Amino acid sequence: MAKMGCYCGAAMSNVSCPSENVIYVMKKERVVSALKYNPQITLIDFITNWDVLTNAKKLFIPEDYDFWYCTECKRVYKSDTHIGGNKLAAYKLDTEPIQISKKNLSTLSELIVFTDKEEDDAIEKEPQMTLSSFLASLTDRQYYISDNEDTVYVYDRKNDHIVLVYRSEKLLDCVSQ
Ligand SMILES: [Zn+2]
Repeated sequence: MAKMGCYCGAAMSNVSCPSENVIYVMKKERVVSALKYNPQITLIDFITNWDVLTNAKKLFIPEDYDFWYCTECKRVYKSDTHIGGNKLAAYKLDTEPIQISKKNLSTLSELIVFTDKEEDDAIEKEPQMTLSSFLASLTDRQYYISDNEDTVYVYDRKNDHIVLVYRSEKLLDCVSQ
C-alpha cells in the first residue's frame, strides 16, 4: 500500500482495490513476449502471480514500473515499484492541438494501457480470463510513445484521430507524502 502526492496537490493512493489512481502501462513487446511464452496466460497471472511463473519472470519482467494517475489534473507518473518508490517520470496532459500523421504514429512504440478498474472488472466477471481476450476488449484507443519517451499520443481508433497528448515534464523535488 502506498500513497503519492501529485504536483497539483492532490493525493493519490493505491489502498483501495481497484484504485482509480492505478494504471497499467507497458510496452506492447512485453505483452507480445508474454503471449509467446504462454498464449493462454491468464490476466491475473500476467498482472500479479509472478511468484509461480519464475521462468516467465526472467523473460519479460525487466520493464516493470508502477504508474499513477491523478484524477484531478490527469497527470501520469512512472515510479519505482517498491513502496514509497521515487517518481521516475511525470507526464502532463498537453492542451495544445497536435499534428502527427498516422504514418509517423505507426513508427513509434506502441504501449498497452489499462486501468486498475478495467482489470478488476474483467477478473471479477471472469476469474480465468486470458490476457489475450482481455486485450481484445481494449480496442477503443491505442497509445504510442516517442523514442525519447517525452511524448505519448492517445489515438482514438473509431474516430481515427489523436484525442490526447501527454508530454513529460521536469521532475520536482519534495512533492511527496
Ligand atoms: Zn494532479
